[in-house]
Amino acid sequence: MAKMPGALWQGEHSPKVEMDRYDVVCVHTIVGYAPAHAAHFSVKADGTILQSRDTRYRSAANLNGNHRVIAIENEDHGPRFGGTPTLPEWVPLTLEQVEANGRILAWAHQTHDIPLELCPNSRAMSRGLAYHRQGIDGDFSRYRFPGRVSGGELWSGSRGKVCPTDVRIAQLPEILAHARALVNKEEEGIMALTDADAEKLVEAFMRYKPKGQELAVEQLLKQAANAPSVVRQEHRRDRAEE
Ligand SMILES: [Zn+2]
Repeated sequence: MAKMPGALWQGEHSPKVEMDRYDVVCVHTIVGYAPAHAAHFSVKADGTILQSRDTRYRSAANLNGNHRVIAIENEDHGPRFGGTPTLPEWVPLTLEQVEANGRILAWAHQTHDIPLELCPNSRAMSRGLAYHRQGIDGDFSRYRFPGRVSGGELWSGSRGKVCPTDVRIAQLPEILAHARALVNKEEEGIMALTDADAEKLVEAFMRYKPKGQELAVEQLLKQAANAPSVVRQEHRRDRAEE
């Protein structure tokens, strides 16, 4: 079972064929409105994440890659994209979508061990953050980003499909950077308590001194005052042991 916290569960839309392994998070564009239940996740213009398939099961968005690819579909129609483009080559992901894709990638990294790096192509050994066109055949010579390389898995039966468009493929490094920042923030979370934070805690305790608990408050104050340096020492020791 793997449902992402914070994603709005849409009910299981897969025929429940299990994944073989987890290598890739693949970015798509819907050419329409979210959700697209063929993918595990859909992201609306405002960054809302919808989940249509448990990641225990395969999506239907990446053809021969479905056994190892987690698929994200992104909305590209509606007011935020200037209406209904026939081909959304000119509509980048909204900032909220970039952040939501980053959250999904960070979760996929922590849950399924997908590496936080750009996937170079659709070959069976390649892993990381990919775009759909990497598994699509066609003449992409007039585009910025290439399609399937020789020996790569075929991720679509539609020859020449540009998904998720050049302008959105160009945003993959932003998605990756966001995921890395999220993961680092959690791993460094223990460092978040600075001296300034401790002072704020002390102030808060001073304002709130419940009757009959003065002694307990004094102890809390001492702990708060000592916390930052203690926490930093602990953290440094953990790092040294790695
Ligand atoms: Zn696609």
